[in-house]
Amino acid sequence: MKTKHFIELEVEQAAQILRQGGLLGIPTETVYGLGANGLDAAAVAHIFEAKGRPQDNPLILHIPDASWLERYCQNIPPAAYALAQRFWPGPLTMILERRAVVPDAVTAGLDTVGMRCPAHPVCRAILQAAGVPVAAPSGNTSGRPSPTSAADMLEDMEGKIDGIVDGGPCQVGVESTIIDLTVQPPRLLRPGGVTLEELRDVLGEVAVDAVVTRLMGAGEHPRAPGMKYRHYAPKAPVTVVQGAPAESARYIQAHLAEGDGVICFAEFLPLFAGYPVESIGPAADQAEQARRVFDALRYFDNTAVKRIWAQGPDPTGIGLAVSNRLNKAAGFQIIEV
Ligand code: AMP
Ligand code: MG
Repeated sequence: MKTKHFIELEVEQAAQILRQGGLLGIPTETVYGLGANGLDAAAVAHIFEAKGRPQDNPLILHIPDASWLERYCQNIPPAAYALAQRFWPGPLTMILERRAVVPDAVTAGLDTVGMRCPAHPVCRAILQAAGVPVAAPSGNTSGRPSPTSAADMLEDMEGKIDGIVDGGPCQVGVESTIIDLTVQPPRLLRPGGVTLEELRDVLGEVAVDAVVTRLMGAGEHPRAPGMKYRHYAPKAPVTVVQGAPAESARYIQAHLAEGDGVICFAEFLPLFAGYPVESIGPAADQAEQARRVFDALRYFDNTAVKRIWAQGPDPTGIGLAVSNRLNKAAGFQIIEV
């Protein structure tokens, strides 16, 4: 299969791929997604094949606005509308009770479905033109860091998908926040572009699922089966050093060996001269860290590094999402300094 490349003006042709049951690379404000018609179980099955994704890891259903929620969900709590009002379109996915029209292939057989209304203008235009909900996970090969540009997605998906729409680099850079509204209190399953602080502002109490801060042990049951899988990982093992930026930089410098690579804050680049090093932006600029973290992780797969050290970011605001992605990439190998 040859993957067609579209620019943002060719929305109608791209939407046609979705309507015909094909696979489409879609720009969103979070990361690039691998989309298919979410009501077409056969098309959705192809997403799992193209990514090499385990069947028990459910997808998110993308819709053009909150009025579509009723079509695919039932017993929708008022909190869902309050969140939609405040954060949609935007990087927030809500877990709600599903209706029977949603194929099992999308939800991995769960009685819940993840719903999101993305903000990227090109993505919105595609959803409107397609006229169907679009099931999509991130557009990477399963296990690899998520793609934040069309080029990154093509690195994994060229020849495996029917088309990709280049909507430029992703503005948020980490996947959507996932909040489960089927439990009381609502539970954060994945930190992302909408922060825990912002969610608490609207919902009051919000619980944080154990998967956000640590690895699931054998015999433990996450809310969605897919949450147990290794994620975002480059080929070389990652160690996160958590602490004040100057301290973590000093620790890494002291332990750095031949063959190691470093992910650091911009101000510490000079400390690691001569080693393969990627900056994720200034220590104080969390939005920039979110935009750059996946690119930094991806970079090392085209180098010969055998181990990667990463400075752990401040886990507040969107920093909780950046920290979570680095910790997951590291399999929660974290050194506190
Ligand atoms: P991705 O954006 O590639 O990480 O894929 C979608 C994410 O949404 C996965 O982490 C899924 O585990 C999560 N997800 C989708 N549907 C549900 C659901 N019904 N319950 C919990 N998590 C879900
Ligand atoms: Mg993913």
